[in-house]
Amino acid sequence: MEFHVFLPNYLDDDEYEKEPQDYQEHPALPVWSPVLEHKGSEPALRLAKRWLRQCLKEHPECADTRCVRLPDRLLYIRTRDFKSRSFEVQLVETDGAKGCYVALSHCWGKVQPLKTRNEEDLKKWKKGIPWAELPRTFQDSIQITAFLGYRYIWIDSICIVQGDQDDWERQSAQMGRYYESSVVTIVAASASGHEQGILVRKNLFAGTVMLGNDFSDIPVRFQEPLVHKMPWFANPIDPIDMRAWAYQERLLSPRSLVYSTQEMKWECDTSHCCECGMDDTRFRDGRHDYHFRGIAQCTKAEALDVWYERVVPVYSRRDLTQGTDKLPALSGVVAKLSERIGGRYLGGIWEDDFIYGLSWRVSHENWVRRPIKLCPKYQAPSFSWASISCEGRYPAKRVE
Ligand SMILES: [Zn+2]
Ligand SMILES: [Zn+2]
Repeated sequence: MEFHVFLPNYLDDDEYEKEPQDYQEHPALPVWSPVLEHKGSEPALRLAKRWLRQCLKEHPECADTRCVRLPDRLLYIRTRDFKSRSFEVQLVETDGAKGCYVALSHCWGKVQPLKTRNEEDLKKWKKGIPWAELPRTFQDSIQITAFLGYRYIWIDSICIVQGDQDDWERQSAQMGRYYESSVVTIVAASASGHEQGILVRKNLFAGTVMLGNDFSDIPVRFQEPLVHKMPWFANPIDPIDMRAWAYQERLLSPRSLVYSTQEMKWECDTSHCCECGMDDTRFRDGRHDYHFRGIAQCTKAEALDVWYERVVPVYSRRDLTQGTDKLPALSGVVAKLSERIGGRYLGGIWEDDFIYGLSWRVSHENWVRRPIKLCPKYQAPSFSWASISCEGRYPAKRVE
């Protein structure tokens, strides 16, 4: 069994009253910091705000999305009393106005979240959404948005009329833009359903022992090892990394504040970091970035490599509630890549590279994990990797 060990900065009687940030690593041990136990605590919220401010002020290469065309609908937040979580929330139509907003990326879960089912709900939510009717994850995201200093948040289940096919098609076609233009996307990565929330307490400390010497006892705390596995591995630690819709939401967002199972993480085009300090931009090769770093400067061949090596295998292994969403849930990524690749996109295959595009196969690992399923309803042409619900892979080297 592996543990991370932290020693206090100094010793006094109220040692156990301290927050984990009061502890510092021992010089002989790796430079990791302890994670904050309560993600809703002020230090945790301040850390999130600091990551965002640093990006906005110090990262010239990160997209400036502080004055953009707003999504057609947003939730407007009025803060009455932050500490007691007293907020007024209402749905608003933006009529093409400009401004800035936060977006939420989340798992819908088995129980459907609060949503706008029809015109009647739309009218009702415009007058106000009772706080108690909002599921915990939405409440937490609203509180984070308010703390970060913003008044608008985009949540798909409420901002799209779910029972209106025309509205759904119109809005889902713009979802890529909505995530791409957000000032930051809150990723509710650890919550598999809406009632779990993300501003929760996480006790990663496995225990404390006192190590004594002639003068004093030194409390030594043991923490569970933190996992920094990349989300495209077969068994990701966060439920959201198995959801197909969430893939492009994270990839297209210029900035993501991730509430992961163990700790908070920050991802932008310039920097990756986490509470413990182990997930650091310096240790990455840039190739595996979640975000579309530098895609605008890519050549056509490089964009096709991104598609075959990164997009198809990672996206195709993810789950969908509706198989028919297989192509729509990737449409924002396709729109972005088509600027570099050009030509027609034919249900998962690029016309300009059609022959190689047909050479996909089912990943062996995936085959073992779950059987190949054909969707009962049409989801993509049968020549496409998108026609089946399991991981599609391309041969390692492209034939030019
Ligand atoms: Zn940045
Ligand atoms: Zn970490």
